[in-house]
Amino acid sequence: MKKKLGQNFLRNKDISKSIVDLAEIPDNVEVFEIGPGDGSLTENLIKLPNKINLIEFDEELITPLRNRYKQNNVNIINSDARFYKLPTENKYSIIGNLPYYASNFIIRNFLFQKNIVSMTFTVQKEVGEQIVAPDGKKSFLSFLIQSHALTKKLLIIKNTEFYPVPKVDSMTIKIIPNDKKLDEDYINFVRKCFSSPRKKIANSIFKGLQIEISLIKEIIKLSELDENLRPQHLSLIDWENLYKVYRETNL
Ligand code: SAM
Repeated sequence: MKKKLGQNFLRNKDISKSIVDLAEIPDNVEVFEIGPGDGSLTENLIKLPNKINLIEFDEELITPLRNRYKQNNVNIINSDARFYKLPTENKYSIIGNLPYYASNFIIRNFLFQKNIVSMTFTVQKEVGEQIVAPDGKKSFLSFLIQSHALTKKLLIIKNTEFYPVPKVDSMTIKIIPNDKKLDEDYINFVRKCFSSPRKKIANSIFKGLQIEISLIKEIIKLSELDENLRPQHLSLIDWENLYKVYRETNL
């Protein structure tokens, strides 16, 4: 197995079945599975009435997958899910036990594509916690995903359920995209404001935006935020207000 491709295969068949059950994939969508590996989720997906597509990056896994699923209506694609563009003629549900090294990148790639009904992903537990984080514990990743989707924690999976055993536990989460598409400038503004996430908000904004600290404090005050807060404490509404005031000050 290839460590650099995040190949930790889920060995517990009950958990694989639970992930597919909890994904609640509607009958009228096409399914894309990311990183099928040796088929632990695929075994359950082929029991669904849906058309199944598999996106696997490791060329050496393609022939075994083709042989295994030649009787089924499965389309196997040898591609990198970090850059894969879905077709646009249908509605899609995406599912996958993602390779840790690329999970953020893969989620961001699909987050901004159209016609996705739901995404059910197993990721490193710490990343899952960020994706579903409540107010007070949000990172830039939480902001980005929760601004574009509803998120839900489904399962915690112990590291020992995978082979080879990874260092950390996993979490399965569900992401249900909304129709919003945030403005790029706004996303960049918030990204910069998270430059020093452990510092107080004014210092973190200063590091990211390089504007005068007295002005930043004024913006924070006008946004009715407590200047002792840190970026993780701001809610999605707080960010919207802060950006609005920032724009109005014409910086
Ligand atoms: N689905 C299998 C399971 O649950 O046992 C395998 C999961 S394993 C954590 C991640 C899988 O993603 C591996 O099969 C790996 O080869 C594949 N993979 C790694 N990087 C990828 C990428 N950029 N795009 C698509 N698949 C990738």
